[in-house]
Amino acid sequence: MKELDLDWSNLSFGYMKTDYNVRCYYRDGAWGEVEVSDSENISLHMAATCLHYGQEAFEGLKAFRGQDGKIRIFRLEANAERLQHTCDGIMMPQLPTEKFREMVLKVVKMNERFVPPYESGASLYIRPLLIGTGAQVGVHPADEYLFMIFVMPVGPYFKGGFSTNPYVVIRQYDRSAPLGTGIYKVGGNYAASMRANKMAHDLGYSCEFYLDAKEKKYIDECGAANFFGIKENTYVTPKSTSILPSITNKSLMQLAEDLGLKVERRQIPIEELDTFEEAGACGTAAVISPIERIDDLEMKRSYVIAKDGKPGPICRKLYDTLRGIQYGDIEDRHGWVTIVE
Ligand SMILES: *Cc1c(COP(=O)(O)O)cnc(C)c1O
Repeated sequence: MKELDLDWSNLSFGYMKTDYNVRCYYRDGAWGEVEVSDSENISLHMAATCLHYGQEAFEGLKAFRGQDGKIRIFRLEANAERLQHTCDGIMMPQLPTEKFREMVLKVVKMNERFVPPYESGASLYIRPLLIGTGAQVGVHPADEYLFMIFVMPVGPYFKGGFSTNPYVVIRQYDRSAPLGTGIYKVGGNYAASMRANKMAHDLGYSCEFYLDAKEKKYIDECGAANFFGIKENTYVTPKSTSILPSITNKSLMQLAEDLGLKVERRQIPIEELDTFEEAGACGTAAVISPIERIDDLEMKRSYVIAKDGKPGPICRKLYDTLRGIQYGDIEDRHGWVTIVE
């Protein structure tokens, strides 16, 4: 196979064609055989439920090349389980964990030459996608589905080093309702977030910050990342029925506990932001994006968290530990990593 000549350290987070993708169809009540394709296109019925009624779910995970040359995939079982939960949420058939695992391993292996070298700090982003392909015009779940996975190399998130960002509270738009689909990883939540996201960017912020939709009192999420705050040796993260259960957050809670911090999952009133010594947004893309400050423009308030503008020591420790596990530099005590053989 040809060696790739890519500028690994300067990749962005953007689509790039790789060699193969994998697909599996659900028909007549059962998942079929795994197929490999080198085409970037899919053929779709114009009345497919994913197009009209948003019967669509996705996942996002990463593979990393270690110093030993081995490829490690982070928490693929957790992603498989979250996808199953999402399937229940929008009436799609669950994809078994075994099938998910087989397909992730296959697509990574087949695109091995796109897994960035250890030194670059880049990784391979893995995008599983499940869509309703059966034709319906009435609002019903489809009877046919397509699950597919494609991959692409993505750059290191912090090009200029681990650094802080400002966020802005958006009160005009809600991303998800208290009993809605916010807990599922579905495209519809993203469609609902685009205006808020654009507004935040136009105002010069890195991301939008959501409060709970019902009372606008408690912290929900930061764009497509979960929130956590650190104070008095405690890791605090919101408990809410409208946020996506981030696997990065779940991992950080465990690591915080390992480091001897207390972990609390509870409602966090926005005013409590004043009391945090550190805070971050967490997700697969950045692991942790430390928060410099959060501006609540309508309330004419600004919560400054990183007083010196720099990431705090606990954020850095958590970040270094998680990245260390992902790249194989730190022992994987919790069995989070799958090595591609
Ligand atoms: C995917 C996602 C996250 C982050 O989840 P990870 O599993 O950590 O990548 C957070 N919030 C939303 C809305 C998401 O879609």
